[in-house]
Amino acid sequence: MKDLKSYIRTVPDFPADGIMFRDITTLYGNPAALKHAVDLLFGHFRNDRVQMVAGIEARGFVIGGALACRLGAGFVPIRKKGKLPHQAVEESYTLEYGEATLEMHLDAFGAGDRVLLVDDLIATGGTADAAVSLIDHLGGDVVGAGFIVDLPDLGGAAKLRDRCEKVVSLVSFEGD
Ligand code: AMP
Repeated sequence: MKDLKSYIRTVPDFPADGIMFRDITTLYGNPAALKHAVDLLFGHFRNDRVQMVAGIEARGFVIGGALACRLGAGFVPIRKKGKLPHQAVEESYTLEYGEATLEMHLDAFGAGDRVLLVDDLIATGGTADAAVSLIDHLGGDVVGAGFIVDLPDLGGAAKLRDRCEKVVSLVSFEGD
């Protein structure tokens, strides 16, 4: 099969001028590419005794749910503020413009559970950092973080390695 990178569509100037949006929906829409991405992440984390996969809304739900099934783990949604129906913990973080807040159910897993964080892409790492704080808050053991795409020039994956020893990405776009 072709390089995974070739299944990701780049949309210039979305959602704002100067942003190169790495659109993962074209990879998700291709059965072989989706399976390959899940297989590769499964290969990285299969021996880490993952009990829960925590996926970040919304593109992290797709790859995270599929990976949880492969790993024989449960799935925990990390959502934008106000979407979860039950009692939740929240963590705010800084975006390029303004602030955002993520939430996770307070009873999503037990203290000491082995949790794998998953999202489609890591850029500055602010989103993943807030997600790790949520998992920490519940006493979860963050055994790793998996992404399809890394934008290494924005430094998020390198920063995340200070808090989580195993950070894996499948595709890297240099430049931004
Ligand atoms: P960050 O918090 O800067 O690491 O941003 C990561 C989150 O924003 C992920 O949930 C991504 O889906 C989204 N994101 C940030 N930059 C891009 C980009 N250039 N293309 C696609 N998604 C992006």
